[in-house]
Amino acid sequence: MLHKILIANRGEIAVRIIRACKEMGIETVAIYSTADDRGLHVDLADEAICVGPTKIQDSYLNMNNILSAAVATGCDAIHPGFGFLSENSTFATLTEELGLKFIGPKGTVIDQMGNKAKAREMMIQSGVPVVPGSDGLIETVEEGKAIANRIGYPVLVKASAGGGGRGMRIIRDDSEFEELFQTAKLEAKMAFGDDSMYMEKFIENPRHIEFQILADQYGNVVHLYDRDCSVQRRNQKVIEEAPSPVLDQKTRQRMGEMAVLAAKTVGYENAGTIEFLLDKHHQFYFIEMNTRIQVEHPITEMITGIDLIKEQIKIASNLPLSFTQDEIKIQGHAMECRINAENPHQNFKPSPGTIEVLNLPSGFGVRVDTAVYQGYEIPPFYDSMVGKLIVHGENRDEAVAKMKRSLEELVVTGIDTNIDFQYAIMDHPDFISNDYDTSFIQQHMRELEVG
Ligand code: ADP
Repeated sequence: MLHKILIANRGEIAVRIIRACKEMGIETVAIYSTADDRGLHVDLADEAICVGPTKIQDSYLNMNNILSAAVATGCDAIHPGFGFLSENSTFATLTEELGLKFIGPKGTVIDQMGNKAKAREMMIQSGVPVVPGSDGLIETVEEGKAIANRIGYPVLVKASAGGGGRGMRIIRDDSEFEELFQTAKLEAKMAFGDDSMYMEKFIENPRHIEFQILADQYGNVVHLYDRDCSVQRRNQKVIEEAPSPVLDQKTRQRMGEMAVLAAKTVGYENAGTIEFLLDKHHQFYFIEMNTRIQVEHPITEMITGIDLIKEQIKIASNLPLSFTQDEIKIQGHAMECRINAENPHQNFKPSPGTIEVLNLPSGFGVRVDTAVYQGYEIPPFYDSMVGKLIVHGENRDEAVAKMKRSLEELVVTGIDTNIDFQYAIMDHPDFISNDYDTSFIQQHMRELEVG
């Protein structure tokens, strides 16, 4: 078993990983920027090393400093969490070259899946259904228009290096093609330093359904069922639930098999997620693979009883998976609300600042993953997540009721939050009756804003 892990991250995910390590008897090293010296992860880890100033390029993305910190403190592995360097193949490869274990897949696999156009091609070859679209990259406007006319408008042009919902545009006809294609390209260049684009048919009103997979070094791959992440704002997840309340048994089984096939195709190791869209006719299509632990992983833990972070560490310690597909069962229903420091009435403007009063909900089936505390100042330099409120009920109705009472108990003052906005979603008749898709927030923004 690994004995000392450096956590190359901050905030709640760093705390989440430190907690798992403690329970496993593994020592931990936290890293922090000068803006984060009061971070909970710094307090909870056995050791903490400052890796640079406020700017993420100089600290949380500073590979040299992070790798030096890991070597200097005698770590035998690095857990990257999500965001930051978690999907950086160079970082993964450098970690392994130093003789440390990168808790995630090989750098070559991160590269293959991180390039979304390439990932699409590999899935087509292995027989995993993908959204109809371009075979590879689109080089010119003319080529793009020709493909759009072949598959039929509306289409979505997407950045091959994309993530976080950025670098994509819906295009509805030839006349707007050039302008929207160029803006998407520009956005991709600025955000990812790479403006290569591909195209998919725009699926109208889909559900976003993803499968969690785990793969060990010995070729064993299992899935831990699905998460429904269709409540989104600007293609970013806001609420997730597991299992998806729209899947019938047959489709669930078929999607699970395809998720496992996708992971096997690329020789995947460790935890990963295969994302699909499901259309109105219950056809599903692969859209991308995330080669890391995800924000919404706790809802899978709640319905399967499996600690995903511990499994990641066991896999990285060369252990084989300790369960088979048949042994993984869905129990009850889980939901997660992302609680952010932002103002929904001001176009979700971030609201950093000091938390004056904090009351976290608790009780049977309630879990809060957070790194904030009363008196903590949320720095303006990083993401605006305050924490994740997770509930587990016997069924969906109970999960909704538990989430509502938990949101009522949750008090955060001193900053603006989206707590009331989340409550308004939980209270919306269409959400309650499971009559929603990825356009839900956009469609109901007025009602949700009033709260
Ligand atoms: P990112 O890597 O930026 O997160 P994804 O490819 O995972 O991008 O897509 C994010 C979201 O964008 C999806 O959950 C979905 O809501 C929407 N989306 C992506 N592709 C399509 C598509 N072909 N048709 C309709 N919506 C899509």
